Amino acid sequence: MQITDLIRPNIRSLQPYSTARDEYEGELGIFLDANESPYDNGYNRYPDPHQKRLKSLLSPIKRVEMENIFIGNGSDEAIDLLFRIFCQPGRSNAISISPSYGMYEVAADTNDVKMRKVLLNDDFSLPVDRLLEAADSDSRLLFICSPNNPTGNAFPREEIERVVRGFPGIVVVDEAYIDFSDEPGMLPVLSEYPNLVVLQTLSKAWGMAGLRCGLAFASAEIIGYMNRVKYPYNINVATSAIAERLLSEPVAEHIRIIKKERRKLAESLADLPFVESVYPSDANFLLVKVRDANALYDYLIGKKIIVRNRDKVVLCKGCLRMTVGTPEENQRLITTLKEYEEKTSDC
Ligand SMILES: *Cc1c(COP(=O)(O)O)cnc(C)c1O
Repeated sequence: MQITDLIRPNIRSLQPYSTARDEYEGELGIFLDANESPYDNGYNRYPDPHQKRLKSLLSPIKRVEMENIFIGNGSDEAIDLLFRIFCQPGRSNAISISPSYGMYEVAADTNDVKMRKVLLNDDFSLPVDRLLEAADSDSRLLFICSPNNPTGNAFPREEIERVVRGFPGIVVVDEAYIDFSDEPGMLPVLSEYPNLVVLQTLSKAWGMAGLRCGLAFASAEIIGYMNRVKYPYNINVATSAIAERLLSEPVAEHIRIIKKERRKLAESLADLPFVESVYPSDANFLLVKVRDANALYDYLIGKKIIVRNRDKVVLCKGCLRMTVGTPEENQRLITTLKEYEEKTSDC
């Protein structure tokens, strides 16, 4: 498969905007080339359009070369760029597992691309054959979220690889929650698959949701197209500087606690009589099937505990999605749920 043949023709021939910093990359000198203010307040200069310092910190953490890394304004930017690079509006289609993260379909709709949603198997496992059968010659992107939101499970790498090998377009594996999983993820095999894009983010395990830093990993060719189509200064100076600082503060201990709390929380939830199922999770949340999801959701809101109601989502009828909080927050959740149990069994 030639990746170039999958690129929209107008993108293939796109002449990207060339910034002042693209044309002169030195660091020292009198900079009179970008019409910036010369008065230094910390933010008077445009950011590096290629985020070289941030990428140089991410590269050893992820064990991926800098030329294979894209940084966007959240994962949403990377998702939208992939549609704009690979899909012809009104003609191409994309495929996604379902249920999954809602942004894939929003980005498809925004770009006038039909999304073909392929239901997970009843046990939430990956329907490899049905995903491949959904493809035709206009299919350009296929989204697999692993660990999946909202079901929480990660898919075995061999199964994802079967999809990557069999799909005649770009397979996007969204690993927003991979740091909470015991699965290795797809980065170790990234270089084997020219049609693979892996998405990760600093929003979850790294605790930087407020900064908006999404990561994409792919061949240098695909990353090159993403760089050409993105806004030139998509990551601002403040975001880069704070992300660079926070990347040096280890999060392994937080991840360890969250995984331990996930197990404890799952056990406590499973003991409650109105809980019908706690699905296995490789993420920092639990999908929980309960007797009356809407009533329980409203009760928790009344107690100022906010979870996500997934009752209306396919295959998730009766389910609430609960993020693992601090040990104290999780204890409060369990205590409050036990009071609900007493209250409902009284009447
Ligand atoms: C939270 C989440 C992301 C991260 O989005 P950002 O825009 O990077 O904050 C990506 N994919 C999934 C499935 C998520 O749940």
